[in-house]
Amino acid sequence: MEQLIVQLSLIATCALFILALMWMSHPSTARRGVRAGEIGMVIAIIGTLVHHEIVDYNLILIAMAIGTVVGVPMAYLMPMTAIPQRTAISHAFGALAVGLIGAAEYYKYAHTAAPGSFVFWALMLEMLLGFLTCTASVIAFAKLQEIMPTRPIVFGGQRVVNALIAAAALGVAVTLVFAPTNTALFPLFVGLALLFGILLVIPIGGADMPTVIALLNSYAGLAASAMGFALGNKLLIVAGALDGASGFILAVIMCRAMNRSFANVMFGGFGTLAAGSAGGKDDRPVRSASAEEAAMVLENADSVVIIPGYGMAVAQAQHKVSELYQALTKKKVDVKFAIHPVAGRMPGHMNVLLAEANVPYEQLVELEDINPELPQTDVALIIGANDTVNPSARDDPKSLIAGMPIIEADKAKTVFVIKRSMNAGFAGIDNPIYYNPNTQMLFGDAKAVTADMVKELAGGGTGH
Ligand code: NDP
Repeated sequence: MEQLIVQLSLIATCALFILALMWMSHPSTARRGVRAGEIGMVIAIIGTLVHHEIVDYNLILIAMAIGTVVGVPMAYLMPMTAIPQRTAISHAFGALAVGLIGAAEYYKYAHTAAPGSFVFWALMLEMLLGFLTCTASVIAFAKLQEIMPTRPIVFGGQRVVNALIAAAALGVAVTLVFAPTNTALFPLFVGLALLFGILLVIPIGGADMPTVIALLNSYAGLAASAMGFALGNKLLIVAGALDGASGFILAVIMCRAMNRSFANVMFGGFGTLAAGSAGGKDDRPVRSASAEEAAMVLENADSVVIIPGYGMAVAQAQHKVSELYQALTKKKVDVKFAIHPVAGRMPGHMNVLLAEANVPYEQLVELEDINPELPQTDVALIIGANDTVNPSARDDPKSLIAGMPIIEADKAKTVFVIKRSMNAGFAGIDNPIYYNPNTQMLFGDAKAVTADMVKELAGGGTGH
């Protein structure tokens, strides 16, 4: 009976995880995908708890209580804009668990399993990935939370040092596979893996962090999968492989969106200030306008492209933006939303916020489709976006974000930018679009300025 429950929970969980990934790939079914993943996880936990090898439920209950006390407030209290660092710290805990279970299994088998046997290969792989992902994720968390500098930390001979440490960790791992009783070497192996994780992430900074998070997600999945092989647990193998593959695909998509190669992200020292690059602030004057003036221009336009970014998320302005969309549509203005793949602080951030505010999904247009339309667009309205509309990515080969595809808002006939100040965005660099003759700044909080525009549009104006 117990075996039947375990097997059935395994099949149900695998099916639900696969369906979850499939449904999450489209905004209209994404909620269903999240539910399927949640139900799959609950079934997996129940299936694990009926396992005959469990002799004492007390420790498990204590662990579950601690997990709930930490996890529930984290889910409710952490703002959506902090999702990358929340994801990073979750990876750190998950990877630490993988590493510790691996360590326990190693000590269990060290004197009983045959040297060179498969279980040691699987254990060493999962511990290497687990421990390095743990420290790498902690560093990623600290950078994203700005506890430590977000810029890359680079030093001479860094790549050689990294390669030597990776080689040393692999060397000790292989030694332990063939001489597992040599337990004195084990702490050295763990230390090298932990150190390699730190060294892997410190040279990465700036706008490459999202890709790193996706990649760490992939490593954590692969580590769990390897642990599945070591423990003979099919569910871990499948779930880990799904996690590893989806994290890897996401990292590739993010790299493509930023026009970066994997090698560049991992070894590029991205965010280091290149000599002569457009890093400093520009002293040129900017033009600013009021929400009322902007509303007048908007309602007299034929076409408007709204470009949301991180600032819209910070201000929680999505509902006001949706009202603005409705008010303009009512006045027969053609309004579209331009969505940059890394706008905000997590993949799909803008899609989630706009869907929450009931903006029709068909109005959301991706970067490569909207760019050809922008030169014919009357007004580009940038709401809290900065790096993703920065023309220096296109025009200045020395820029820190050179080569990153942007939404070419500067090509529209008129550009309005809602932001609070002249401060830089995530990459920390100035944006020449603010000084263009066709740009007008609407200084203020995104929600307040958008609300003023909505009020103005409701209060009159002839429109078309
Ligand atoms: P940016 O982070 O480049 O800029 C956001 C702008 O919003 C700031 O310049 C800020 O200016 C403004 N802002 C902040 N708060 C408010 C507010 N309350 N009201 C109005 N404006 C506000 O945003 P983008 O979305 O253009 O770019 C995203 C960046 O984040 C990229 O560099 C990307 O690589 C990176 N990133 C993306 C992740 C992802 O997965 N999407 C994950 C991690 C990083 P001011 O202070 O003057 O108001």
